[in-house]
Amino acid sequence: MLLFTPGPTPVPEAVRMAMAGPTIHHRTKEFETIFKDTRERLMRLFGMYECVMIASTGTGAMEACVTNLSSKKVLTVNAGKFGERFGKIVSASGLELVELKYGWDTPANVEDVRSALVDDPDIDTFCIQVSESSGGLRHPVEEIAAAIKEFNPEIMVIADGITAVGVEPIDTSCIDALIAGSQKALMLPPGMAMIGLSEAAVNKIGEGEGYYFNIASEIKKQRQNTTAYTAPTTLIIGLGKVLEMIESDGYESFYEETRARALATRSALEAIGCTIYPKSPALSMSAVYDEEADALRSVLKTEFGVNVAGGQDHLKGKLFRINQMGLIPVHESAWVVNAVEWAYDRLDRRPYNGLASKVFNEVYYANEKL
Ligand SMILES: *Cc1c(COP(=O)(O)O)cnc(C)c1O
Repeated sequence: MLLFTPGPTPVPEAVRMAMAGPTIHHRTKEFETIFKDTRERLMRLFGMYECVMIASTGTGAMEACVTNLSSKKVLTVNAGKFGERFGKIVSASGLELVELKYGWDTPANVEDVRSALVDDPDIDTFCIQVSESSGGLRHPVEEIAAAIKEFNPEIMVIADGITAVGVEPIDTSCIDALIAGSQKALMLPPGMAMIGLSEAAVNKIGEGEGYYFNIASEIKKQRQNTTAYTAPTTLIIGLGKVLEMIESDGYESFYEETRARALATRSALEAIGCTIYPKSPALSMSAVYDEEADALRSVLKTEFGVNVAGGQDHLKGKLFRINQMGLIPVHESAWVVNAVEWAYDRLDRRPYNGLASKVFNEVYYANEKL
């Protein structure tokens, strides 16, 4: 079965092999050497002032960022499940919440954010997804972050890049905390989250907040190539391997390849009559609005061995989402759009004529320059 859900994503064989060794004790020179190597690679991935790895899913990192960076009131963008989650974290942390709500297909915009900040001078932190996975939506995060810093550089900008870091280059010049997760774009098993931090964020964090999710404790230890509590050694070894694989061809080539595959997938789907759901599609996945999404997903699974994700909440049964994150062999993505075309044929929607594969290849090779 081809796993084509936008998280978890398949773990490449070389990474599985790297993680198959005996467990190393985390308080040893041997592990410190591995940690240092992974940390240096992670610094290059984020391109930010500081970074930490924490044993937690992505949600834990979202919580850590909120509690360590805000002391009063948080403005969040809710255009899907994950944006909604930021709001729940803020409320559960005893902070005040202002939420900008959008349809799951609609990106946030600078004007709405600016007017929310003007209306409420108590807001000290802003939270948004780079790619909101519920609807496959890309928010214009860099533009919004720049406008926030122009309005008030003291406001901390937290960007959830769990389905964006490792997908496309992100301009972090106005972002204070950028979150990544192991099981999405970074092709690892679930269980580790990573946070890139600006210098302003590190200063604002100061002594940190809370106990386990105290980012200051982690920064202090991780600068010494260890972790505050038991390190997720296997995942850190795996992350080192993933980043080594990406770096062997270079980030530029990796991002270009992902982009070419994403554009080819989207064009192929559109060519056979699929409706791309978000107004501003992310490169991490293709989300298609389809009233027969469940029947289609079932045909894809049983007849073609392809597992794609469905929709959640009000989009349950009305959306299917195809992953684009990771080092995916291009023939697998080509096979997936071809399978969608066959599934349309099986459901008597459109007779198969090979158009999806044709368009996929045309667009992919027009965009892939290497
Ligand atoms: C998956 C995901 C999360 C949550 O990650 P968990 O690892 O399940 O806690 C947060 N944000 C986005 C955009 C995601 O796709």
